[in-house]
Amino acid sequence: MSKPSYRGRFAPSPTGPLHFGSLVAAVASYADARHQHGEWLVRIEDVDQTRTRSGAEDRILQAIEAFGMSIDGTLVRQSERTALYDQALDTLRSNSLAYPCDCSRKTIAAIAHVGREGPIYPGTCRLRPPTNAIDVAWRVALDESTVQFTDRIIGDLQQHLASDVGDFVVRRIDRFTAYQLAVVVDDFEQGITDVVRGADLLWSTPRQIWLQRQLGYPTPNYAHVPLVYAANGQKLSKSDAAHPVDEDNPLPTLLAAWQHLGQTRPTARLRNGNDFWTWAIENWRLTSVPVDRKHIDD
Ligand code: GLU
Repeated sequence: MSKPSYRGRFAPSPTGPLHFGSLVAAVASYADARHQHGEWLVRIEDVDQTRTRSGAEDRILQAIEAFGMSIDGTLVRQSERTALYDQALDTLRSNSLAYPCDCSRKTIAAIAHVGREGPIYPGTCRLRPPTNAIDVAWRVALDESTVQFTDRIIGDLQQHLASDVGDFVVRRIDRFTAYQLAVVVDDFEQGITDVVRGADLLWSTPRQIWLQRQLGYPTPNYAHVPLVYAANGQKLSKSDAAHPVDEDNPLPTLLAAWQHLGQTRPTARLRNGNDFWTWAIENWRLTSVPVDRKHIDD
């Protein structure tokens, strides 16, 4: 079987039931994949098992089905892929692209400037390796390159990782693989060509592209859709159980997600989720999705 020209994915973390914000990301990635006659995979991002809630995976999968989205391929769980992450970390280590670090959060908070994505690690352990090699995190050794990419919704972006983010963690001190490395390995292993996800991850993209380059992986296309904000201006999050979606009556919620994504209102009379998708897949326009300015501007 030849590789499809488009393979997208939805990658929820099982930290709670699906809420309206994650439904918007699912609807966008599904519509974009199906509009381009592509495949749509689901990956359960349970790499951080300290945040996994029991039953959340089942509830998310039920919601995906109730909202009429059909999954291709085999479901992947990050918790079952540790060996792949270990291999990638070994590659980084053997190319001197990762180093051990035993700095505590407290130490880092005391010495680091805070950037857009948190404290910018000043490279302390890169210069002076820890003596105890057991309780360590692993950080990448960044170079001076600027990562440039074109988001399909937002346009051209760039980031100088060393000054804006600093040497970031790829394996945590508690031995869990960090999200940035796991997602890069998974997107590669699953042959993902197109990532459509929430704009809160926009500034993870340069780190992911940098890792792809070091590991010899191709870079997928990226599109970051506007987040849904609660009345207090915070993003909705699964872990605070905010705004679970009504699976018994999917159509109004699908239409609300569609509207949030800047899409035209259906003119045809839609009776249910299936009618919605028949119409929506045809009429999806990525160019109409609004830009989430909150995540671009400083
Ligand atoms: N697991 C992440 C989340 O639930 C999404 C990661 C991604 O799409 O790259 O927010």
